[in-house]
Amino acid sequence: MDIITRLNEVKHNLVRAEQEAERPEGSVTLVAVSKTFDADAIRPVLEAGHRVFGENRVQESQGKWPGLKQAYDGVELHLIGPLQSNKVEDAVALFDVIETVDREKIARALAEEMKRQNRFLPVYIQINTGLEPQKAGIAPDDAVSFAGFCKNELGLNVTGLMCIPPADENPGPHFALLARLAAKAGLSRLSMGMSGDYGVAIGFGATSVRVGSAIFGSR
Ligand SMILES: *Cc1c(COP(=O)(O)O)cnc(C)c1O
Repeated sequence: MDIITRLNEVKHNLVRAEQEAERPEGSVTLVAVSKTFDADAIRPVLEAGHRVFGENRVQESQGKWPGLKQAYDGVELHLIGPLQSNKVEDAVALFDVIETVDREKIARALAEEMKRQNRFLPVYIQINTGLEPQKAGIAPDDAVSFAGFCKNELGLNVTGLMCIPPADENPGPHFALLARLAAKAGLSRLSMGMSGDYGVAIGFGATSVRVGSAIFGSR
């Protein structure tokens, strides 16, 4: 199967999941995760009209996205991987949405850099719903206060929450938890669901799903 057939299949499944969840068509954004794939692999997806992409590494993205953004209007690039302090300047310059605000230090650095560049990007707070020690993110108990801190103290444009559930667990309870926390924090956007579980995530209220291998193939 080629990449466009897979893209169309994912889009079709997404619409069906919206319908099954009795949610309006178009209420879920497909973030096509192109990490590890080069510009030549991404171009057909852009040619097919898709514009929203996710990448997990700043440096890798700098090698392909400046050229692609120049060639195609309206690209919206999401950072979905951990952000280091020394990459904040480059990340703010290249990305359009930062989904991985996961600690105070990086939140402060982003706020400062966005002011410096006068580029006030929407951000998501990453929540470690499974409290996994190896995984980044704010603990669920601290989610509401941390979101408030980022908005009110730092002036960040916090639009939603993001999570990556533990790989070996039923993701449903994690998606439900993220939705409850977002409601408590007064945030409307939920970034959750990947190739294996985006249909489930849509049932729990995902407003964007991050789908890589189901579109681009295995990495
Ligand atoms: C790689 C990645 C995805 C996409 O994963 P697939 O299983 O290939 O769809 C989604 N979210 C994050 C944070 C990722 O790093």
